[in-house]
Amino acid sequence: MLTLNGKADLLSMNIPEIEEFISSLGEPKYRAKQIFSWMHRGVSLEGMTDISKKLRWKLAETAVVDFPTVEQKLVSKLDGTVKYLFGLHDGNVIESVIMRYKHGNSICISCEVGCPMGCKFCASTIGGLVRRLRPAELIGQVIAAERDLGERISNIVMMGIGEPLDNLDNTLKFLSLVGDPAGLNIGSRHISLSTCGLVDKIDELAKHDLQITLSISLHAADDETRSSIMPVNNKWKIEELLSACRRYFEATGRRISFEYTLISGKNDSAEYARRLASTLKHGLYRNSKPFPIHVNLIPVNEVEESGFSRSSGDAVKKFCDTLNSLGINATVRRKLGGDINASCGQLRRAKLKEDAEKSGDNTTL
Ligand code: SAH
Repeated sequence: MLTLNGKADLLSMNIPEIEEFISSLGEPKYRAKQIFSWMHRGVSLEGMTDISKKLRWKLAETAVVDFPTVEQKLVSKLDGTVKYLFGLHDGNVIESVIMRYKHGNSICISCEVGCPMGCKFCASTIGGLVRRLRPAELIGQVIAAERDLGERISNIVMMGIGEPLDNLDNTLKFLSLVGDPAGLNIGSRHISLSTCGLVDKIDELAKHDLQITLSISLHAADDETRSSIMPVNNKWKIEELLSACRRYFEATGRRISFEYTLISGKNDSAEYARRLASTLKHGLYRNSKPFPIHVNLIPVNEVEESGFSRSSGDAVKKFCDTLNSLGINATVRRKLGGDINASCGQLRRAKLKEDAEKSGDNTTL
């Protein structure tokens, strides 16, 4: 049984698992679906009013519904983007961002506390990995944000702090929980998962034949440049990664997205754009029919420690135009929440710095 501090971790469980648990308490199975639906609407045990007080008391003794708490909330005056700093049961903090689009609210969730991958431009990985998030902590971000906003969230991107494929089992459980019609009912087609490129895990994910959108953080088109900014490239070279992408497409039929962060003077010249187009065509389509892909260009968000700076508007436009002229479908990602530190890992990092300054400890920074 899934547990948290010796009690049943109800929010990490699916309906059959809750059935099994409440049967062990001598309760009828049909209660499981009621409990599941309440939890996924953000209601904790004491608020489950159609369940007898006796059972609620029994559950309080033996189980927990572990929602994250809102530690900080920032709302962008520019575009309504909302950034949450959520507190976890053990005092760790993670971030989630709500982006408002015409087609509905989208949430970007964190998958781990910190990140083990070490990408040089990224704020989330500076202190390394602290721990992976449980299914309850993954779905808890969506539930807590919906409850706080009083609005439905219709899309999820796994692009916050951490590497989802480094936490694959819990990610798969999360995807099944979030798609349950008795709960949030957000289907795979409304979910994107972004990875720095763990090839073995991409192959494992492909076996599940999910309809999620896979986004690959590529950021460079040659191994030398990529290895210099993404340590994962020392394990799996670009060619291996692109072969895994092709296998993923063959297994799922889903278009693949590539993220390319533009760093001034590092990977943003028109020559790099041409190299990117040819690397993609060669690596993905070599002996097989072309399939749909999309390149998202992201001017790098400047992180103090990295020393990287954003490409100029002209360089970004030229890069994008060059890709499109070579038949690679590319767009520049719109920057949201520019006034609230909305990008990955920056708010948690500011909080860690503030806590360390208060306690006079800067060893973890
Ligand atoms: N670990 C996963 C998901 C989290 S990062 C991954 O690597 O894809 C989500 C996206 O933000 C990735 O494409 C990542 O490379 C990008 N990113 C991280 N730091 C950034 C920064 N400072 N500026 C722009 N993009 C950044």
